[in-house]
Amino acid sequence: MTGTFVGMPAFPSAARTALADTQLRANLAHATGTIRAKRAAVVGEVDHWEELRLAGAAIKDNTLRHLDEHLLTLEATLTARGATVHWARDAAEACAVVAAVAKDHGVDEVVKVKSMATAEIGLNEALADEGIAAWETDLAELIVQLGDDLPSHILVPAIHRNREEIRQIFLDHMAAAGRPAPADLTSDPARLAEAARLHLREKFLRARVAVSGANFAVAETGTLVVVESEGNGRMCLTLPEVLVSVVGIEKVVPTYADLDVFLQLLPRSSTGERMNPYTSTWTGVTPGDGPQEVHVVLVDNGRTRALADETGRQALRCIRCSACLNVCPVYERTGGHAYGSVYPGPIGAILNPLLKGVGVDAQTDSLPYASTLCGACFEACPVRIDIPSVLVDLRAQVVDSHRPSRKPEAVAMRAASWLLSSESRLGAAERASGLFGRAAGRFGRRTSPGGRRALSRLPGPGAAWTDARDLPAPPAESFRGWWARTSGGRDE
Ligand code: SF4
Repeated sequence: MTGTFVGMPAFPSAARTALADTQLRANLAHATGTIRAKRAAVVGEVDHWEELRLAGAAIKDNTLRHLDEHLLTLEATLTARGATVHWARDAAEACAVVAAVAKDHGVDEVVKVKSMATAEIGLNEALADEGIAAWETDLAELIVQLGDDLPSHILVPAIHRNREEIRQIFLDHMAAAGRPAPADLTSDPARLAEAARLHLREKFLRARVAVSGANFAVAETGTLVVVESEGNGRMCLTLPEVLVSVVGIEKVVPTYADLDVFLQLLPRSSTGERMNPYTSTWTGVTPGDGPQEVHVVLVDNGRTRALADETGRQALRCIRCSACLNVCPVYERTGGHAYGSVYPGPIGAILNPLLKGVGVDAQTDSLPYASTLCGACFEACPVRIDIPSVLVDLRAQVVDSHRPSRKPEAVAMRAASWLLSSESRLGAAERASGLFGRAAGRFGRRTSPGGRRALSRLPGPGAAWTDARDLPAPPAESFRGWWARTSGGRDE
């Protein structure tokens, strides 16, 4: 799984449904407009903003160029500081690690810090299958979870909900998940926040295992970093005995000094703040302070595939600020659900195909077209990801993946694929090959200089080939035929 909502239609049809929802469009226009204005104000305060963007892009590019080395350094420093490092090729492996840690400690619930990586791998669903409840503690994630909804924004997953809708969700669903909302709850933001705080506090105090992601992972020190606004992350990262952090391999930065750049870029681009209210850092295990057992799951899940894409690899610079969503005219009108993924908006339109590959499913293939190519996303991106160029390149890849090639190699490969994908077809081909070998032998056999039996001369158009080359003679009996006849050599 790569964070795709199962059963979602391709973007055009999902977008049509979203566009018909006037309440959704009003909620989105209000929310994205507010965040855009806040971002513009705080970015405008920084004289050297463009230099910061260039520095952020350069640090990420240099890191990605030597990603293997930085990851090994990170593993070594984490291990030296008492953390256990796990490597996960895909979502299933990453989820299995988290479930195994929870089971080892005999718990049936974990508390979670908001994390795109865990949403991408479908961790909550995987843990539920193992009988383990994963409680979201970020306010917006809590709203989505209680409403049995899907996230529609990277930073504000419940951006499509207004205050009245949230009040109703709390009243209807909080009781089933723990402490109920007060019966006289109003849609006043302070009352809603208080209801969430009281509901979550008993979960923080009870939980023995927490799960987080990480915004950054510093290779030289083995330090993980989470930035957040509510303090729920700090509670998860400090109170439970055990902490499991699921980290995409592109989150690594080489040195502590590199954080300086990103901790200026990220809050201004995401929440429109000069700095994050909470920036938590932790380095392995500190005796007597915080979780005494720390696991770090380093997840690939398509990232090495994206890294191999010359144009698309810049998407791995992404620091998940969501600025590109807030300025996108398409996202503002459709919202995030239409993208069918935990990664919506412009970054989702490139990241999903890069992680999953094109030509795999119609929904993913539709995403590079979910853009007007206006370029607003590039202007807003703090690490200068040229999203429009990647979109155009991915569109070409999508077209190529569906184009039937007539080149002889492509035709031969398609024929081989058709033949080798069926046992009966392969068997028939082997029998035909034996017959052909016997028939062609009538036109002469010889032993080639390499000692192999070869057909010396083929009739008709084949003669031009065998005039100057050896054509190995097909064996009279195929290996599979011999195996079946002699029971693998035992009856010989
Ligand atoms: S692509 Fe750029 S603007 Fe969009 S979420 Fe990533 S870092 Fe932010």
